[in-house]
Amino acid sequence: MTSLSQLTTPDRAHADAPGSSTDVLGTHVQRARSAVLEEQIRAEPGRFRVLTGDRPTGRLHLGHYFGTLHNRVRLQNLGVETYVLIADYQVLTDRDVADDMAGHVEGLLLDYLAIGVDPARSTVFTHSAVPALNQLLLPFLSLVSVAELSRNPTVKDEIAHSRQSSVSGLMFTYPVHQAADILFCKGNLVPVGQDQLPHLDITRTIARRFNDRYGAGATVFPQPDALLSPAPLLLGTDGAKMSKSRGNAIALAAGADETARLIKGARTDSERHITYDPANRPEVSSLLLLAALCQDRTPDDVAADIGSAGAAALKRVVTEAVNEYLAPVRARRAQYAQDRGHLRAILREGNERANAVADSTLTEVRTVMNNRY
Ligand code: ATP
Ligand code: MG
Repeated sequence: MTSLSQLTTPDRAHADAPGSSTDVLGTHVQRARSAVLEEQIRAEPGRFRVLTGDRPTGRLHLGHYFGTLHNRVRLQNLGVETYVLIADYQVLTDRDVADDMAGHVEGLLLDYLAIGVDPARSTVFTHSAVPALNQLLLPFLSLVSVAELSRNPTVKDEIAHSRQSSVSGLMFTYPVHQAADILFCKGNLVPVGQDQLPHLDITRTIARRFNDRYGAGATVFPQPDALLSPAPLLLGTDGAKMSKSRGNAIALAAGADETARLIKGARTDSERHITYDPANRPEVSSLLLLAALCQDRTPDDVAADIGSAGAAALKRVVTEAVNEYLAPVRARRAQYAQDRGHLRAILREGNERANAVADSTLTEVRTVMNNRY
């Protein structure tokens, strides 16, 4: 598979598209920090523990892949201990009913296996099966103010796109739940997309405050770092963030024809000469970036090849690049789908491992909080 680490993306990528809240999110700072982290990971992978996850709300897409999934597999293969959470309780943050939860959980698992998540090296588990993790939510809730949660830009954005008419307590406390997700295993490295940076800030705050209040000088929880990929905010076919819930995504599991149709319908602009200019031409640039990521080239290079051939040529190049890149992933996915018993066993073992870790962390938390009688 293409090595994203070899890709040299220009400094100004999608994160800087007009109207984005780059500065608020601190994306530039996080990018610089990610480069430093990469060096440390290569030198000492054993120092890091990764926790990331996805909500089982639909099929994983290329935004997930290039934003976080590729990094997870890369870190796993570098020898970093890796936990992958299927965040089933968090599905209810922005909807009343979780449709086809079992189907989506299985779909996520298939996507993970197809892209190279190895259950022997990575622990894959679901929220609902790990009670001690969820119990961390209580002390953590006491460490943040309502004002801090109200200010969180990701919560605001998620509320704006919510399917509910009012904001539930679960939605409002989403980042605190995420702190429990990350800290239950003392995760110190979180490969995420740009939208998750404000959430991670809250996790860091909670870890710091917990240590200050209960640690008696010791560090109970690490303050985790976000690890951004070269594509921390991939746009969908409508020019907005590619997202499961917004109908603008190209799923990893989509067929070659479906992919071609989706890319054909992608929004572009009226300028015939194709250039990589994320600030002024976000849609065209996003397509160029997608082809570049699949072909391990720079977006400028892809643009130079297309020149004045226009949007139709661009879309042909992108379709071919995506379908070629995903063909082996799709083939592996189809193979894994034939053995559902194996999928259930992977989850059962992952849940067992996660429960052991969560129980031990909760015992430690109860001890430092003087809750053991
Ligand atoms: P939903 O619409 O249900 O919220 P989503 O597509 O936003 O789904 P999540 O499950 O919320 O996906 O996100 C999982 C992970 O994928 C997070 O780390 C997030 O930052 C990352 N991610 C999601 N969309 C993108 C994207 N377009 N570009 C880069 N990373 C992304
Ligand atoms: Mg989301």
